[in-house]
Amino acid sequence: MRKNIVAGNWKMNMNLQEGLALATALNEALKGITVHCDVVIGTPFIHLASVSNSIDTTKIGVSAQNCADKVSGAYTGEVSAGMIASTGAKYVILGHSERRAYYHETPAMLKEKVIQALASNLTPIFCIGEVLEERESEKHFEVVKSQIETSLFELSTEDFSKLVLAYEPVWAIGTGKTATAAQAQEMHAFIRQTIAEKYGNEIANDTSILYGGSCNASNAKELFSNSDVDGGLIGGASLGVDKFMPIIEAF
Ligand code: PEP
Repeated sequence: MRKNIVAGNWKMNMNLQEGLALATALNEALKGITVHCDVVIGTPFIHLASVSNSIDTTKIGVSAQNCADKVSGAYTGEVSAGMIASTGAKYVILGHSERRAYYHETPAMLKEKVIQALASNLTPIFCIGEVLEERESEKHFEVVKSQIETSLFELSTEDFSKLVLAYEPVWAIGTGKTATAAQAQEMHAFIRQTIAEKYGNEIANDTSILYGGSCNASNAKELFSNSDVDGGLIGGASLGVDKFMPIIEAF
C-alpha cells in the first residue's frame, strides 16, 4: 500500500542552531498526537546528524536534498549517499528543479544518483515537473514522461518500488502560484499510468506521488483529497512549525 507523506524541503535555509530548534520544535508538536501521514524533513547536509540525534526518527524521517553520483573518492565538496545514510537519514531528495536548473544536473547524472541512494538504502524522493513554457505549449505530459523514463526506467521492478516521486511544476515552486487540484490530479494520474505501463498496476498503485509547488495550510487539504495525490513536498511552508503542522494535519 502506498503511503501518504508530507516532506519538508528546507533548501539552503537555517544555520545549525536554527535548524535544530525547528526540528526539535516539530518533534515536540508531533508528540502524543496521531497523524495520518509520514513526516519527513529535508535539511541541508550539515544538519543531518545533529537533527537525527535530536528527534524521534520513528516519527520524523530525515532527508538530504542531494547526493553524489559516485561512491567515494576524489570528488571535492561532494557528499555520498553512504555518508548521508551514516548520519541516520533515511531519504534523499533528488532531481529537484533547482538542482537541474542551477547545477545542471542531467537525467544521466540523476540516474546515477538514484542508483547510489538505493545502494545505501536511502529512499529517493525523485522530483519531476515542467517549466511554464512547456505547460503553455502543452508539452507538460511529454516532459514529465521523459524525465521519468530517462532517469528511472532502467531500474529493476524491486528498485523502482522503493522510490517516492514528487510532481513539482516548476512554475509553482516558490511563486505562490499553486497548480489547481484538477491540474495536480490530472498529472498524478498520468504519472501513475506511465509507471503502470512499464512496471504494472500493482507497482503503480503502490508508488507514493507527492505534489510540490506553493503548497500551504490553505490549499493542502484540497490538493491531498485527490485520489492520486499522496502528499506534498513543501518548501517555504516547511520553515515554521506553525505553517508545516497544518499541512501534516490536512491528512
Ligand atoms: C520545493 O522547493 O520543493 C517547493 C515545493 O517549494 P515551495 O513549497 O516553496 O513552492
